[in-house]
Amino acid sequence: MKITERLKNTTSTLFSFEILPPLKGQSLKELLVGIEPLMEFKPPFVDVTYHREEFIYKKHPNGLLEKVSTKKRPGTVGICAAIMNRFQVDAVPHILCGGFSKEETENALIDLNFIGVENVLALRGDAPKSEGRFIAETNGHNYASELVEQIVRMNNGHYLHEETENSFHTDFCVGVSGYPEKHFEAPSMKFDLKYLKEKIDKGAEYIVTQMFFDNQKFFDYVRRVRAAGIDVPIIPGIKPITTLGQITMLPRTFFLDFPDELMDELEKCKTNADVKTVGIEWAIQQSKELIAAGVPSLHFYTMSKAEATYKIAKEVF
Ligand code: FAD
Repeated sequence: MKITERLKNTTSTLFSFEILPPLKGQSLKELLVGIEPLMEFKPPFVDVTYHREEFIYKKHPNGLLEKVSTKKRPGTVGICAAIMNRFQVDAVPHILCGGFSKEETENALIDLNFIGVENVLALRGDAPKSEGRFIAETNGHNYASELVEQIVRMNNGHYLHEETENSFHTDFCVGVSGYPEKHFEAPSMKFDLKYLKEKIDKGAEYIVTQMFFDNQKFFDYVRRVRAAGIDVPIIPGIKPITTLGQITMLPRTFFLDFPDELMDELEKCKTNADVKTVGIEWAIQQSKELIAAGVPSLHFYTMSKAEATYKIAKEVF
């Protein structure tokens, strides 16, 4: 079912979460068994991230350079199929501009349609580590809004390089990302919201936010999004902090701030277990306040580890 339908048909806040494909060479079974306990909270959908290919150049003894793929987490489409089969929930694959030509995107969407996927999250993706800034593929998309446009055109029966409308239409419900603390490349929140609106105007039907740790920032963001004339559902992203390493990694990687009160608690932590206790408690308080504010779903960034999210969900749902 389409996510927008799920959200429309519920009177209470739903529970949803995101997982990452396992590292190449690791089994999917472990991941599926690992997330099974979360099914207790009846998620209507589970997001599966996409990780683009990174390349390195390997020098051969004859002096020639070989371009070698170092893709670390393949398997997004296969995992979607496995999740839908095993748990009878909707899987939402993330679709990126980065690394795809428009033709490859079209083919990927046809595959997804054939396996029964009805929702996709359309994203630009980040620059590969080896490149300083995002560069679109030849005949690819520069921004998520262009990807949304392509998906919506397919929903209307228009395929690339074809003049006429096809009788077979895909029917994807398209979600996009939003940033309560602003996307790091946007020079201002106003600028970022202008392009968020473009994604919605082109046909995206819901927004999932980047993680945040200060609910006030989310509430302020929602107010500004609404003032910008965007009225689609906004689903907040929640990340329980679980390791000492994440205290520096999360703000640096995702361009966000920890509130002073949270940081004061984290600074007292000596072990990962201490951090997990603080992180879970913080996420519980965040979740309770967000539910009280009537958010459509709480969307947890599990990083494929269910334990912390399970404890939070048990407390708040
Ligand atoms: P866009 O919406 O295209 O925006 C990118 C930047 O360009 C913004 O600063 C925006 O303000 C600006 N902009 C947009 N349009 C224009 C325009 N026409 N002209 C000028 N500027 C413009 N990454 C992955 O690699 N895999 C994933 O699975 C993944 N999942 C994610 C899930 C969520 C919920 C979120 C919030 C992020 C996820 N990301 C993922 C990260 C995301 O790909 C990066 O944050 C990326 O840098 C931006 O993607 P976007 O879709 O938000 O970009």
